[in-house]
Amino acid sequence: MRNQQIYAEQVDSLYRQTKTLVIAHPLATCLALWSFWSELSLSFKVYWLTSTLVLAAWRYFTFLRYKRSDQRRLFWDNMFALQSILQASIYAIVWVILILQDVPINSALAVIWMTGLSACAVVGYAANLKELFAFFMPIVVPGFIALLVVGGSFNVGLALAVMLYSVVIVRALMPVNRIIKQSVALNVQLSEEIDERSKIQKQLLALSRQDALTGLANRRFFDHQLDAELRRACRSAQAVSLVLIDIDYFKQYNDLYGHQAGDECLQKVAELLSKTFNRGGDFVARYGGEEFAVILPNATYPRAKHLVQALLSALTALQFEHKGSLLPATNTLTLSAGIACNEGHLDITAADLIQQADQALYQAKQAGRNQVM
Ligand code: GH3
Ligand code: MG
Ligand code: MG
Repeated sequence: MRNQQIYAEQVDSLYRQTKTLVIAHPLATCLALWSFWSELSLSFKVYWLTSTLVLAAWRYFTFLRYKRSDQRRLFWDNMFALQSILQASIYAIVWVILILQDVPINSALAVIWMTGLSACAVVGYAANLKELFAFFMPIVVPGFIALLVVGGSFNVGLALAVMLYSVVIVRALMPVNRIIKQSVALNVQLSEEIDERSKIQKQLLALSRQDALTGLANRRFFDHQLDAELRRACRSAQAVSLVLIDIDYFKQYNDLYGHQAGDECLQKVAELLSKTFNRGGDFVARYGGEEFAVILPNATYPRAKHLVQALLSALTALQFEHKGSLLPATNTLTLSAGIACNEGHLDITAADLIQQADQALYQAKQAGRNQVM
């Protein structure tokens, strides 16, 4: 995976040079045309410039397609290499023609162009040896052979200079290539680590907001959420209801069925709460112990009461056994709930709303439990 990313980065760095290349090669061709104007036939000059412009256009369209492409990196890498070979070959034909004319000044000029262009390639493709040789070899080798074929001490001297230059520059490039590859690999590694860290941070944040037993939001998250909802309700002049829910005679449940069964009972109640209060924005939290809290944004008192009654009925329908319940003629688990609703869009605090809901819950307990106040 990491190697693929490094490779992708290398191919990207090639195509990032496209705009420079499609301007630089036609410009270099115009300059070279100017310096060899009288040495080349008109038809050859037209061929040279036209083929360079066509290739530049093709490279630019390839670049546009690459930007919209899928992940076939090898294909695009090879496509870039093919276009480099073609570009270098167009130049090479010119150098060979000039060298074969056996005019010393033209041969020397051709060698200057060869070495200049190949030096640019060394810098531009230092990260990618395949691409470097795809341009470097066709630029240098045909000219080098042509110099040897024409012969004579001047041409052979130029050929040896080209060879020496090529060997030295490629050798000097190797450590640079290694360093660039290492730095690309380090960059990829770094961005992987940053991704991993932000994933862990998100997980930690989620964990710090979650109650481990029930999976609901915990008290800390609830406090934060209630503040936020109250502010939002105040700003938008909308109602917000808070419900505090407490399991009836839960101590007796624990005593009768054991702490483990008590935990499972809390999980079942949590599940039922999540199912009942499932409208977007509804927020269910474990308030502490066997108490739960529900924030209902945009819910007026009648709606909140309707939902809580539906919850109590759903629990009754479940017939969840609680033989320790002290409610007369009741052998099943029951809940009591208190609702506080801010419908007057007053700027009340979270503590006020909690206190009101708590009072209502207390009244529900006093009035005989298994009900909402
Ligand atoms: P009431 O109807 O008045 O609410 O009575 P109650 O017995 O439900 O209330 P009380 O406050 O007397 O007891 C609450 C019990 O909840 C005591 C405690 O052991 C139990 N409890 C609190 N947290 C947990 C928990 O995480 N797991 C289990 N199994 N029990 C818990
Ligand atoms: Mg309690
Ligand atoms: Mg209780």
